[in-house]
Amino acid sequence: MFKALVLKKEPEFWVGLESLQSVELQVGQVRLGVKYSSLNYKDALAITNTAPVVRSWPMVAGIDGVGVVMESKDPGWAVGEWAIHNGWGMGETSFGLMAQQAVVPGRGLVRLPQSLTALESMAIGTAGYTAMLCVMALERHGVVPSSGEVLVTGASGGVGSMSVALLSSLGYSVVASSGKSEEHGFLRDLGAKEVIDRALLSEAGKPLQKERFAGVIDSVGSNTLANALAQTKYAGVVAACGLAQGADLPSTVMPFILRSVSLVGIDSVMAPIALRQEAWTRLAKDLDLAKLKRITQVVSLQGAVQKAQALRQGLLKGRWVVEVSE
Ligand code: NDP
Repeated sequence: MFKALVLKKEPEFWVGLESLQSVELQVGQVRLGVKYSSLNYKDALAITNTAPVVRSWPMVAGIDGVGVVMESKDPGWAVGEWAIHNGWGMGETSFGLMAQQAVVPGRGLVRLPQSLTALESMAIGTAGYTAMLCVMALERHGVVPSSGEVLVTGASGGVGSMSVALLSSLGYSVVASSGKSEEHGFLRDLGAKEVIDRALLSEAGKPLQKERFAGVIDSVGSNTLANALAQTKYAGVVAACGLAQGADLPSTVMPFILRSVSLVGIDSVMAPIALRQEAWTRLAKDLDLAKLKRITQVVSLQGAVQKAQALRQGLLKGRWVVEVSE
């Protein structure tokens, strides 16, 4: 038996800790003894039942996890190895990793890099891995530190704060957009050169505005993304990964056809394994672990419920690791 954070729909929505029975492994699967999970936007939606993230009920929450292999029916994984899991629909269509045990397909796991602890890997979690996918997309499209300023929206959130930390460590000049005036110091400490009020970007604006940014990492969507596109310099690149403001994109083709701006979509959930391995290798090399420590807090499995409500209300900053093994 093992402890898990369970979500149920009938007779009404319920979330709480339950003891579950281990199931037998199928060929290709690995049983992880999960040490830590992490709290992401999607986890908060699932745990608070505020969007249809969960597709099968009952569900165990948790899109992320790091743990030790307890049993393996995948020849690529041996008992005792440490593995990271992100996404692949866990916590949505199959049981997630806010549980002391999880059964996962071995082919989707990434080895815990030697230079990271288990705790650090979940402080990074899906938010940090997504931030790295965004940075790699900017690089792939030719954005380098000398190209000019890079805008990060939703900057005090998980993806945003990880993006600020990563970009500044790589030498980029980072402009952070945040709605939390009290967190400007936090964002400067992470490496932002300038912090702007998100209200400057969140209202409807003209399709082409004064050119400013060589690159953008946007986790907000809606008017914010439209304004970011409108302020991107000629041949600049916008990596779009989120919808904290909204899923709409009230823009025109003008930034694309008059300024050669590129809009690159980022998905972490179904990203191929080679891209994940590259992202985690880069995270282990490029992220300033002292900065990571400053943005990380740890909460218990039970405590994750209250933190999920706060994250949903936009009240949290940085990254929240969920300690599940206790
Ligand atoms: P967080 O809640 O940690 O951060 C979101 C941040 O967005 C908030 O901290 C806030 O930052 C800002 N924000 C919140 N509400 C609004 C609003 N109404 N208007 C403008 N800004 C707002 O979430 P995550 O960082 O974990 O995720 C951010 C987004 O990225 C989510 O939409 C999530 O679904 C998406 N995501 C996508 C992934 C992918 O694979 N594509 C993977 C991971 C996340 P501030 O107060 O500083 O402005």
